[in-house]
Amino acid sequence: MPELPEVETTLRGVAPHIEGKTVADVCVRQGKLRWPVHPDLPEILRGQRVEECGRRAKYLIIRFQTGMLLIHLGMSGSLRIFTAGDGRIDAPGKHDHIDVVFSDGTVLRYHDPRRFGAVLWYEGIAEHHPLLQKLGHEPLSEAFSAEYLYACLQKQKKAVKLSLMDNALVVGVGNIYANESLFAAGISPHRPANCVSEAECALLVASIRNILTRAIAAGGSTLRDFVNSDGKSGYFQQEYFVYGRHQQPCRQCGRPVEKAVIGQRSAFYCGGCQT
Ligand SMILES: [Zn+2]
Repeated sequence: MPELPEVETTLRGVAPHIEGKTVADVCVRQGKLRWPVHPDLPEILRGQRVEECGRRAKYLIIRFQTGMLLIHLGMSGSLRIFTAGDGRIDAPGKHDHIDVVFSDGTVLRYHDPRRFGAVLWYEGIAEHHPLLQKLGHEPLSEAFSAEYLYACLQKQKKAVKLSLMDNALVVGVGNIYANESLFAAGISPHRPANCVSEAECALLVASIRNILTRAIAAGGSTLRDFVNSDGKSGYFQQEYFVYGRHQQPCRQCGRPVEKAVIGQRSAFYCGGCQT
């Protein structure tokens, strides 16, 4: 599943190719995504210029003159760019559901085999969209501070791992990053949220920022792959400390990594390094 770093990498890979460009046409081959694509999308977008591309949580936001496209990659979605200069635009495959064609020949293509993603047209203020308005802070923003995290966790008795994965508290900390940041901070995923100290919150915030920043940097090396490629290589694997390493030796102490289910998601942790 595309996580926040992959979405940020997608934004950085796609934005320079479409910002300032004008839509010539839109081809919707399959509009039944998680929510239906607006039936008039081609009429709406034709002749409109891309003013800016951005991101909120795992939503890409492409701003046009009269509104915006909110794009979520769901479980299996990806975006790719075809540039006119190379004269090579692959014939659309079975899962290439939407093409946005720009007047210079550039094509932005949405691909999503499982169709859990979304391409939504919205004419209001982004922060007011029902999918965006209840989201917590961005993990890489100043607002996501140790003080903020401590204040939130103090009010919760559930396992701290569940709190970190709660989008209303902080966005973009999916299962991988929750597991890895708890390991880096030496905190057991089972620990009740209100038993995490303020000093540990500072460690957690720093760990989350560090892990996401490194993942985004790793993605940066694959930026060129968004153009004229199979669209798959924009995703990347990092070397993890605990995630997916059940029974393998902890990279810090050698003890086997343990696995448990917390809130229906797998928690990986070291019983020696995390308390
Ligand atoms: Zn260990």
